[in-house]
This record gives sequence, C-alpha cells and structure tokens, in this order.
Amino acid sequence: MVSQETKAFFILRIMDKKNIPGLPHLQFRNIFCIGRNYVEHAKELNNEVPSQPLVFLKPTSSIIFDGDKIQIPPQSDNVHHEVELAIAIDKAGKNIPKEEALEYVGGYGIGIDVTARDIQQKAKEKGHPWTVAKGFDTFTPLSSFIEKDRIKDPQNLHLQISVNSEVRQSDSTKLMIYTIADLIHYLSTIFTLQPGDIILTGTPKGVSSITKGDNIEASLSNGLATISVTVE
Ligand code: MG
Repeated sequence: MVSQETKAFFILRIMDKKNIPGLPHLQFRNIFCIGRNYVEHAKELNNEVPSQPLVFLKPTSSIIFDGDKIQIPPQSDNVHHEVELAIAIDKAGKNIPKEEALEYVGGYGIGIDVTARDIQQKAKEKGHPWTVAKGFDTFTPLSSFIEKDRIKDPQNLHLQISVNSEVRQSDSTKLMIYTIADLIHYLSTIFTLQPGDIILTGTPKGVSSITKGDNIEASLSNGLATISVTVE
C-alpha cells in the first residue's frame, strides 16, 4: 500500500519538474526512446538488429533527477538499468535533413532508461507495447544537460554506469547503429519535434539488475554530466 506521503511526494515532483535542468529556457515535452541501437546490446538480449530505428515513448511522469530514488514497483521482480546519451531538442522541426539535424539540439545529458525486464519480456512475447515496462514513476533518471556548444563531437562521448561502485556499462557513442543525426531525421519524419523533447538514444551492452539499496552513478565522458541515484 502506497502511503499518502509517498503519493503527495510523487505528485509534487511531477508538478515541479517542468524545466530541463541545465537548459532552463526549455520545458520537458515528449521523451522519445530508441531501442537496440548498439549491436552488442541487441545480442545480449537475443534481439535482432533493427532495419530502422526502433522507437518507443516514456511518460514525463517517470523523470527523476540527481539525488532522487528509483522505486522498484511491486509489479516487477527484475528491474534493469540502461545508461544512455540523452538529447534535448531546442528547435521545432519536421522532416529535418540529416545534415542539419545537430542544429536542432540544445544540449546533451546522461539518462537511465530504467526497464522492468520481466514485464518487457512478456510484452515482447505477446507483441504488446513496452509502455508499462518502461513507464513506471522514477524510471527515467536524467542528469543536468550540457549546452551543445560545449560538446565537440557528440558521437565520441563515453557512457558509463556503475552500481555500488562496480562498473556495469562503459562504451562510446561511436558504437551507435543509428547516429544522432539519423535519429533526429527519422523521428522528425513521424513526429514534429518540439523544443523540450528528449531523445534517449539507446543503451550499450552490459544491462543488469538493480535492487533495493543499490547506489547508482552514471557519467558522460568522465564527469561532463553525472547523475547519482539510489534504489528503494
Ligand atoms: Mg533503452
């Protein structure tokens, strides 16, 4: 049973977090996510590499920030971390050419696409959407965002996540199957991208379970952006 205090906490957090940290002129809109964008991660979950970007959405109610807590929902016995490069869109666009795609970015951060793997596995078997597996409250920890001018090459950033000081995922954005420009182009052929939209660009290999009491730290290129959360 969820206490009244917990309910009030979540409602306040959701009402309170409209502005994107680091880019306060932007307010969160959609969270577009890409699945299977690193070959070795697709293999570790026995998935095929997709022939076009695999897209799903997370709700903004799932966002938490540095210092917050991931809550393991009672509906799942197997919750995984997926560390990902997060992009904040700063300009509206439709059918954005790849060559212009990076002009639409406001900044970059590090995010964790927390996933109830057991619920996702059942959904995959039945051909059902991943919304529940990906969308619980607290399932989208996001760092503060770094303005894009401070990042020379977003396709050469290091993503790292450790659980209780043990490194679990550590890889470069060089390994993306679909580049940031590919993803912005592709998404904009379907959705009008808007300022405040977030794109989570997929996770490299090494996803694994998290449990109550874990301390999780994720970092973009040795501390350019960091986030630290605990699990309860
Ligand atoms: Mg993911």
